Amino acid sequence: MTDSKRVYLDWAATTPIRAEAIHAMQPYFEVGDDTIGANANPNSLHTPGRQAFQALEDARVRIARALEANRPDEILFTSGATEGNNAALFGLVSAAVKQKRLEGVKDFIPHIVTTQIEHDSVLAPCKVLKALGCDITYLTPDSQGLIDTQSLKDALTPNTVVVSVQMVNNEIGSIQPIEQFASITHANRSLFHVDAVQALGKVPLSIKDIDPDALTVSAHKISGPKGVGALYLKTRIPFDAFLVGGGQEGDRRSGTHNVANIVGFAAACEQAVSELPEVTDRLIGLRTLLYEQLAELEKVYPSVEVAPASPHFAPHIVSICVEGMESETLLLRLDAQGYAVSGGSACATNSLKPSRVLRAIGVPESRIQGALRISLGHATTLEDVNSLPKALQAAITP
Ligand code: PMP
Repeated sequence: MTDSKRVYLDWAATTPIRAEAIHAMQPYFEVGDDTIGANANPNSLHTPGRQAFQALEDARVRIARALEANRPDEILFTSGATEGNNAALFGLVSAAVKQKRLEGVKDFIPHIVTTQIEHDSVLAPCKVLKALGCDITYLTPDSQGLIDTQSLKDALTPNTVVVSVQMVNNEIGSIQPIEQFASITHANRSLFHVDAVQALGKVPLSIKDIDPDALTVSAHKISGPKGVGALYLKTRIPFDAFLVGGGQEGDRRSGTHNVANIVGFAAACEQAVSELPEVTDRLIGLRTLLYEQLAELEKVYPSVEVAPASPHFAPHIVSICVEGMESETLLLRLDAQGYAVSGGSACATNSLKPSRVLRAIGVPESRIQGALRISLGHATTLEDVNSLPKALQAAITP
């Protein structure tokens, strides 16, 4: 690795955009003849508007197919997964409360079940809903970051409106038994929402198999453009729009569409899904190698025990802790050597608060302070991975 080369190992935070997405979006940024309605509002009735609408609907069909949804109109375009998760929680709870009122139930207290290791874009809406009078149950993971199905069964009550569980954890990569959770939740006549942001393009993801009522994905985690995502909403699920206004998306999500972004998202989604088997195999190999090499360094511990063929961990996340060190110090020293990784609680704005996910799975405090998340993607090379341990060693003992 030359001094000027940078090695990007922070794919769980965001991903570099891929060529297929750029090519799909390029015509939307050409100046001159506009034959695709690039400058039009897809809700306009004139020819350019209808062209833009066609592109929008084509992208919807392709994303529905890639996610194995039953119908294209079950896909709502959003600004990303933060919006998708907020919309799912507020929208499903609001509709359920309204329904109870119509039935004459006045003192209904909605109950929500989620986990201690969800992304903040699920936990923060839960906090707001709690302040508005909802009951929230936070399921506890085991030391591998897995939630037990019995704990979900025990948490459900007749008032449980929605259960919201991530498919893949963004800090440690644990994969929840989401299909079992969906059937347990449905047996209680409650709704099931999945945050599948870290699953898409990394593990097989089929809406047909999972059977969720709502599911969130985001384009920038699969080398699509930033600022666009989708919320899958099963047909006929009672849902109150989170963003109201012009009535776009069948009155379920108002706002003028960013057609270029949506078209880029569709291209990225198709590519990520089609290359999944090959990428998964390669990343499992790289992840195993990385865990083995890092285990040889003094003071370095894996946050979770990931067996090479474990079906319980996504292939792109490696989580380690360096005993007695600060994440920030390590991260900056790695950055100085050209390596981009994440530390502490990932994705939170510039903050390196000790990770609540690692705390929830029982990692000792002295290690949590020195947590690092190394995350891989389809373009990560063997050379990138092989060179990291030496750089980390230098960051530990400069
Ligand atoms: N959920 C998970 C599991 C995530 O990793 C992220 C991104 N860090 C989000 C939700 C939020 O996604 P977005 O950046 O698209 O708002």
